[in-house]
Amino acid sequence: MTRPLAIFGGTFDPVHLGHLSVAWEAAELLDAEVRLMPASVPPHRPAPIANPSQRAAMLRAALQEQSRLTLDTRELERSGPSYTIDTLAELRAEQGDRPLVLLIGADAFAGLPTWHRWRELFEVAHIGVLSRPGVDAALPAELEAEVAARLVTDAAVLRAWPAGKVIELAVTPLEISATRIRELLAAGRDPRYLLPCGLFDDPAVLAPYRHQTLL
Ligand code: ATP
Repeated sequence: MTRPLAIFGGTFDPVHLGHLSVAWEAAELLDAEVRLMPASVPPHRPAPIANPSQRAAMLRAALQEQSRLTLDTRELERSGPSYTIDTLAELRAEQGDRPLVLLIGADAFAGLPTWHRWRELFEVAHIGVLSRPGVDAALPAELEAEVAARLVTDAAVLRAWPAGKVIELAVTPLEISATRIRELLAAGRDPRYLLPCGLFDDPAVLAPYRHQTLL
């Protein structure tokens, strides 16, 4: 059985310990390689504060000294919006029949029906839903219907198929969000223990957030 490749996308504006901890636990639960994949122009949200190279640099700093989590910058290198379906189709072509798992926080998963060609995601990957504090468990009816027949509880099932299953990954709840971190930095606070320590090595790294104007 092949070790799955899991993709954890997001804006990572900035990457925080919530992201890293859930990605790490997902890697353990699925026995998977996990790639963090920053999005360049997220189709469904406001533009990030940090630019693509700054967000990639923060991720590089955060991922030092371990090999379980890696960085994949392909969406930053592509022009135009980053549609997850395009990225997964590209990975499918590269990886053959290897199981692919799209990791999504429970908040983002509930919004899946707003994603471009969302139903096709199940044809190219499994979905691993990461629990997140404060997220209502109810799903929109069309998503609930799609998930019902796909839900599995045993990670071994994901290794037997390339795509199409949904698994809930009960990761340690950490109520950390990039929004909160941006607010703290804009207010002149120092969210030291919510962020990977590598982000504090160079004061320029967090400067874009200290000088932002919150909308
Ligand atoms: P923002 O506050 O700017 O919306 P965020 O903290 O939600 O940012 P994103 O980069 O938007 O971070 O998230 C990328 C992915 O990580 C999403 O699937 C999101 O649900 C998930 N995620 C982020 N923080 C957590 C957390 N603390 N626990 C579980 N999942 C998380």
